[in-house]
Amino acid sequence: MALLEIDTLTKRYGGETLALDSVSFSVDDGEFVAIIGPSGAGKSTLLRCINRLIDISGGDIRFDGMSVPQLRGVALRRHRTRIGMIFQHYNLVNRLSVIENVLHGRLGYKNTLQGILGLYSEAEKREAVRILENLGLSEQMYKRCDQLSGGQKQRVGIARALVQQPKMLLCDEPIASLDPGSAKVIMDTLRDINATMGITVLVNLHQVDVALRYARRIIGINRGQVVYDGSPDTLTNAQIYQIYGSEAGELILDLKERYAA
Ligand code: ADP
Repeated sequence: MALLEIDTLTKRYGGETLALDSVSFSVDDGEFVAIIGPSGAGKSTLLRCINRLIDISGGDIRFDGMSVPQLRGVALRRHRTRIGMIFQHYNLVNRLSVIENVLHGRLGYKNTLQGILGLYSEAEKREAVRILENLGLSEQMYKRCDQLSGGQKQRVGIARALVQQPKMLLCDEPIASLDPGSAKVIMDTLRDINATMGITVLVNLHQVDVALRYARRIIGINRGQVVYDGSPDTLTNAQIYQIYGSEAGELILDLKERYAA
């Protein structure tokens, strides 16, 4: 059975912007999917709808058999704990330590008082430490987040998502603010998490070359519509044009250079 089913999903902002226009696709448990498209295509909106950070305007989203737009209260909170979010700008609390930021990933499991008091069990703390060690952040554990590099901050973001014990990671342009070296570490980390932990990964990417290198499936979005859904191996230059419009020329050139190198 599919883990995630998007069925004729529509999202409007106000009366005018049609950000998602009858989007349909489904994702099986364990897939690694890249969502590509130009800026403003609707990629971020799509992820925010899946996590119910925003309400949809029409259609349906089913996650693990449940209709996401119908979820309320405890069921909605539980849904959000099962989906880890990774953001372009990390969304960390800079004045707090790395470990404190990671433990924030457990807040969805707590009542308000436990959350306010920052009450975490020994098991939760041990797990946070273990995850940080696995991600190569042992030495940074007690540093404030504002002392970290961008690549380290994004690894903290990934650690925070992993302590949630999610079934799926939604990554919204996770490497857009990083240098190529750090971007590679982050993409390799996401691939390892998918391969070794079986966590489904949906990653929004602006860079088509990165999508081709890492994803086993590519969904191309242009102006709120899915215009490609398939293997990276069968994506043609013509389809890249269809996805990226006027931005495509540069991307295709870039690709040829990279693969020739
Ligand atoms: P992408 O992630 O592919 O860059 P977005 O999902 O951010 O695209 O945006 C899709 C469209 O929705 C764009 O036209 C954008 O201007 C619009 N949009 C996004 N967020 C909002 C918002 N909060 N209010 C109004 N319009 C928005």
